[in-house]
Amino acid sequence: MAPDDPLDRAVQCHLSAHEGDEHYGLLAELDQYGTALWLRWHGSDVDVAVLPDCPVIGTGSGSGSGSGGDACCLFAGHVERHSWEDTPPQ
Ligand SMILES: [Zn+2]
Ligand SMILES: [Zn+2]
Repeated sequence: MAPDDPLDRAVQCHLSAHEGDEHYGLLAELDQYGTALWLRWHGSDVDVAVLPDCPVIGTGSGSGSGSGGDACCLFAGHVERHSWEDTPPQ
């Protein structure tokens, strides 16, 4: 049961808790490498934007996984923390 229309489901803001009321929710990864389709909303204003992926990679802080750190799943220039900063260290 894969949803064929991403707009069909509720989209939640992907940012960390943040100031302001402009929110971003990921709609879909695009075929073009390094870009994704984002739903952006601010109050009752909603629009869709193609944004480049955030290029910042986490350091991994010595987890030893060998993957070279976690990629941020947000978009370039986002406010607040990178997605990999949101995960509490174990
Ligand atoms: Zn938000
Ligand atoms: Zn980021």
